[in-house]
Amino acid sequence: MKVLGIESTAHTFGIGVVDGKGKILADERNIYQPKEGIVPIEAADFHRENSSKILEKIEKKINLEEIDLIGISTGPGLPPCLNYGLKFSRKLAERLKKPLIGINHCQAHIEIGKFLTKAKDPIILYVSGGNTQIIYNNRGYKILGETQDIGIGNAIDKLGRAAGIKFPAGPEIEKIAKQGKFVLLPYSVKGMDLNFSGILTEAMRKIEKGEKKEDVLHSFQEVCFSMLAEVCERALAAIEKNELILVGGVAQNKRLQQMLKIMCKDRKVKLTVVPKKFAGDNGTMIALTALINWKEEKRIEPKANPNWRIDSI
Ligand code: AMP
Ligand code: MG
Repeated sequence: MKVLGIESTAHTFGIGVVDGKGKILADERNIYQPKEGIVPIEAADFHRENSSKILEKIEKKINLEEIDLIGISTGPGLPPCLNYGLKFSRKLAERLKKPLIGINHCQAHIEIGKFLTKAKDPIILYVSGGNTQIIYNNRGYKILGETQDIGIGNAIDKLGRAAGIKFPAGPEIEKIAKQGKFVLLPYSVKGMDLNFSGILTEAMRKIEKGEKKEDVLHSFQEVCFSMLAEVCERALAAIEKNELILVGGVAQNKRLQQMLKIMCKDRKVKLTVVPKKFAGDNGTMIALTALINWKEEKRIEPKANPNWRIDSI
């Protein structure tokens, strides 16, 4: 069996192919790089301009006639991007005369993380542009805690913009933050939930006031990542699990990994991190999740679902 997955919910247009055991056979993607923040219509235009090129690259490695199933990420995401992805995937499914199923983007980040790290029964910290959630997956996905406003990745990118760093700002902020000293920023954990926008506002105000960029960026990481470590620790204690996996684009951050490692070591918890190449959005995670859902006879109708929550699957 060969499964093709298509990702186009936000900034990335990606296609991946896996075999019936989940082995990755091909992965191609292009990432939209806006000057300011993501403009949904522009992102959809980017996908329209890049989709054929990406498919051609896949076709150099895979005979598309051998594809048995197609998965398309149908939410959560930006409506113009979801609509274009659906149009593209319907056309491809018709051409190949193969079934097309809808895939939840967050589930895909988690499933590729679990598959590649061989985690068995973990608590999941899912940190990406638009999403920040602590999840437990046992007959469905239970959200144990989450952001009450913006995702940590979006907060990082917005702060980056204020500091003159282009999108995606995460890697550059991580580098600059190493040179900074700690300055006080608000800390906002409410039970199992988190808020980032107040911290972001204060950090942006400090940059506007002319405080040292490296200090503000350093402190922003320290505070936000401590908050994430705190809720993860509480989740691990409450559910009594000894495994934590870190998934999503922000999972690439070494300082976040280090903080979680310290907390996990204290609790004798095993921490695993999704490999860098598959941390950010990609088509392979959609293909892999399509394979898993197909085997479990979960066939979700492919229709755009911009606010699709993982706990409703
Ligand atoms: P995703 O939406 O899962 O593709 O993740 C994209 C987000 O990950 C963007 O907000 C990036 O700024 C963020 N990101 C990527 N690399 C890093 C990093 N090293 N540290 C922090 N955030 C990062
Ligand atoms: Mg994502």
